[in-house]
Amino acid sequence: MEIKTDICVIGAGPAGIAAAIAASTEKIGTFEEGNKRREVLLVDSNAEIGKKLLMTGNGRCNFAHDGLEEDAYRGSFKDVADLLYERMGSDFVLDFMRNIGVFSRNIKGYYYPASNQAVSVVRALDYAVFKQGIKTLLNSKVIKAKKDEAGEFIITVLTSSNNKKNKKMISEEAVIKAKRVIFACGGKAAANSGSDGSINSVILGLSEGIKFNKQLPALCGLILDEANSDLIKGARAFARVSLFGIKRDAEKELLSSDSGEIVFTENVISGERKCSVSGLPVMSVSRFASEALFNALKKEEGKPFYKELELKVDFAEDLSEKDILIHLLTHVGDKLSIALCGIVNDKIAELIELKGGIKGKINEENAVIAASLIKNMTFKVINTRGYEDSQVTTGGIDLSETDTDSFELKKIKGAYAAGELLDLDGKCGGYNITFALESGFIAGSAAEASLHDN
Ligand SMILES: Cc1cc2nc3c(=O)[nH]c(=O)nc-3n(C[C@H](O)[C@H](O)[C@H](O)COP(=O)(O)OP(=O)(O)OC[C@H]3O[C@@H](n4cnc5c(N)ncnc54)[C@H](O)[C@@H]3O)c2cc1C
Repeated sequence: MEIKTDICVIGAGPAGIAAAIAASTEKIGTFEEGNKRREVLLVDSNAEIGKKLLMTGNGRCNFAHDGLEEDAYRGSFKDVADLLYERMGSDFVLDFMRNIGVFSRNIKGYYYPASNQAVSVVRALDYAVFKQGIKTLLNSKVIKAKKDEAGEFIITVLTSSNNKKNKKMISEEAVIKAKRVIFACGGKAAANSGSDGSINSVILGLSEGIKFNKQLPALCGLILDEANSDLIKGARAFARVSLFGIKRDAEKELLSSDSGEIVFTENVISGERKCSVSGLPVMSVSRFASEALFNALKKEEGKPFYKELELKVDFAEDLSEKDILIHLLTHVGDKLSIALCGIVNDKIAELIELKGGIKGKINEENAVIAASLIKNMTFKVINTRGYEDSQVTTGGIDLSETDTDSFELKKIKGAYAAGELLDLDGKCGGYNITFALESGFIAGSAAEASLHDN
């Protein structure tokens, strides 16, 4: 089977859907007759579009954020995202959503669909795709791409379907011939949503020289070397977490820090019980842990190398160590658990007793130890909880490979890249969907505009 199209968009996540809509229409949301500009084909390995979107924001899809938090975007290209956010930002996303029929609700600076359901965003996108006459090719994984002599892209897909007679899955190869191609295949986070990194070899097949930066899990939990996981599993705390890299000369370097609610859990990893910690501030620092752990393995020239990673947890950010000590000293002779019950979770109080070797009642000496542990408890970080637990991927196509006004790949004329496939990652708070929609929309408009003279 051969399918011809003007623009082939590979990947039907927010980046690919925005690209397809931008490439196919002048005015989204109006769906005027004659509005359609180009033949656009949207390809995805999943049976439906927007699968990952359904998981976002705990099923509510946090698609934008009020303003731009400091360090909202991370990595070597954060300036590109910051500039894009300033140029388009929340207003672009809110207009885009409104144009496809989704009203937004602002909850403490975070934007969700008014329905409070991610599924409504996916339904509205699906309807916009249908109304724009964008063709879809689902259950179809792109496995190869090349350019012919005329400069058109020949894209090979493996399409799966159910054999009606024996109900077994069958796969058939099909070829797509496209004048332009937009790669919007995401990273490797939550691979069960379809983004599994399989597109990387397809892109490298078109140009071996494309620079891909190492993809690593981010916005995920961390695994700690902590023997007392049985004790603290389930403990929640409002805390400031600070990730430090410990250099060979034992000097500590602060890599990242954030505060909010954290939770300790216990997981069985390779047959062993391990202590993990998750929650928004942990997710926020996790990309730096991923990078540091990877650099420690590779020991690449010019990259910082830390012999160990340490997570410092301040369990009482609003109180000074001195205030806590004064409080504890009013409890000399009492049990520590009584003195701490109004400050930290009871499981954390027990952990402080264990770590501080505080066996008896509070005295002047162990009060100092307990106050210090509340403010400065440290854990050795041994790993991240990996792609399965992660919400985004660090690394991907180096942004210097693209013209950031169009996201066209400099080494593959006529090919564009958008969304999480690019080496940019944002904090929690709608930044990743915002960037996917913005970059997808820019790539789709640019791919369409480049066909004007054809
Ligand atoms: C649990 C969870 C919660 C999240 N919550 C939020 C949130 O609230 N706010 C926020 O901003 N971000 C959130 N994110 C991150 C956000 O979902 C992603 O950054 C965003 O979806 C990336 O969009 P994308 O279009 O670039 O890629 P994706 O959404 O990953 O889409 C890529 C698509 O490409 C397809 N594909 C991949 N390879 C191929 C191939 N070879 N052939 C054909 N198709 C292919 C995949 O099937 C997939 O549908 C969350 C992520 C997760 C996992």
